[in-house]
Amino acid sequence: MIFFSDFDGTLTQESEGLTRDFFEIMELIQSRGHELVIVSGRSLSWGHFFLTHFPLKACIMEGGGVILRVDERGEIIEEPLVTHPELDRLREFTAQLKNQFPHVPLSVDSFGRLTDRAIEFHLMDEAWIDQVMAFMDAEGINYSKSNVHINFWCGTISKFLGVERFLKTLRPGLSAEQCWFFGDAPNDESMFEFFQNSVGVSNIDRCLHKLRHKPRIILEGKENAGPKGVLNFIRARV
Ligand SMILES: [Mg+2]
Repeated sequence: MIFFSDFDGTLTQESEGLTRDFFEIMELIQSRGHELVIVSGRSLSWGHFFLTHFPLKACIMEGGGVILRVDERGEIIEEPLVTHPELDRLREFTAQLKNQFPHVPLSVDSFGRLTDRAIEFHLMDEAWIDQVMAFMDAEGINYSKSNVHINFWCGTISKFLGVERFLKTLRPGLSAEQCWFFGDAPNDESMFEFFQNSVGVSNIDRCLHKLRHKPRIILEGKENAGPKGVLNFIRARV
């Protein structure tokens, strides 16, 4: 069985960050012979951190833009899911954006990103956010909002496409029933839309009204927020 999971707000507690629950989730999944694959909007360089510091074999980063995996020699292999011209256009657009909005707060991890860039939208007011989004629309740039960033990219990227590619090429033969996904925010929506077994941890309640596609199962109560919800759910099923 594979448990795919978003990271921020799902495997981390919003107020406390990484807690013991995260390590319990990893141990539980491992001890039952299953796999945890983090599917996050965080950068490629965060993916390297995950694979070098935690007992994980693969992760899908930048909202589905790049798959990272540990090969049989223990080396980390990166597989971007966009083309070189799309990467070039992203670099060019980022320069345009900075030119148009010199104070736009690009996330501090934007330097470690390959297939997308991120903006710290909590440092911006609504009107400014709308202007930046309108500029992206006019330039044909794709974007989505997580609970920490506005991510933008060129080409077709989604968490679902990343997971689909991962399953097809690296874990063929697994049935849809053997896979679960956990998430908490609008940037998980492609998984809620297309993935059979999706679970929203209870803190998703804040943005449920914004989702056109909701998770199949929605956890409730404070005791099911973030990693606590993931842990309770997995405990009950494996
Ligand atoms: Mg999240």
